[in-house]
Amino acid sequence: MSAPALTIEDIRTRLVDRLDELLEPRTVRTRRWVHRVGTDALVPEDVEVRMPGLLGQLARGNPSSTAGRSSSSGGSRPPGSLVAADTLLMIDREARPLAAQLVALRVQAAIDGVQLVAHPRRLIDAVRIIRGFVPDLDRAWLHSVDRTVERWWVHARVTTTWDDAPLRPHVPCPACGKVGGLRVVPEPLTMACLDCGGAWEGSEADLAAVASDTRHAASAAGSNEQEPVAR
Ligand SMILES: [Zn+2]
Repeated sequence: MSAPALTIEDIRTRLVDRLDELLEPRTVRTRRWVHRVGTDALVPEDVEVRMPGLLGQLARGNPSSTAGRSSSSGGSRPPGSLVAADTLLMIDREARPLAAQLVALRVQAAIDGVQLVAHPRRLIDAVRIIRGFVPDLDRAWLHSVDRTVERWWVHARVTTTWDDAPLRPHVPCPACGKVGGLRVVPEPLTMACLDCGGAWEGSEADLAAVASDTRHAASAAGSNEQEPVAR
């Protein structure tokens, strides 16, 4: 496993980008097929869709969440929303203490001897606090926060299925060995394990090999009913 040659500034930029994807709504362009007026002919139409940030997407259908977005949709619960709720809970459990820790460290550094205990109540506030501290994180903290946020971002991407359902390769997880928990989302390539919480992202060239192996193995597995059971 070779680490990608990223500078500290590269990591800072990637961290801010991922936190923005978690927080900020964005407009995506997508193509739909619609009937040409007065005819049966189907024609492509490019439409712009306004999407909430990943946290907002995770919070849909989960009204008790603290993601700071009121969930007003009266529609039925989308498939996979339980996993989305789990992901939101995992991020919530980690983000609020992390934000509190960063605030406390900052105050201690600024005013000698002062200890402050901060408890951001809403997840979205905690994530905003973390984002606000990114420019000031030293190397060790930056690597630590980057790894944590990478896990949130990868899991949020695979459990929000706005466009396409993630691939579910029927192969053992490289980390825990269980079969059935892996989810893969392309562009940018990310993979998460819903069993052990493992997360991989595609800037590591190794992941491409893992994912193509898993896809290959998944299609091979489809033609063979005898599956080895991973323990
Ligand atoms: Zn796993």
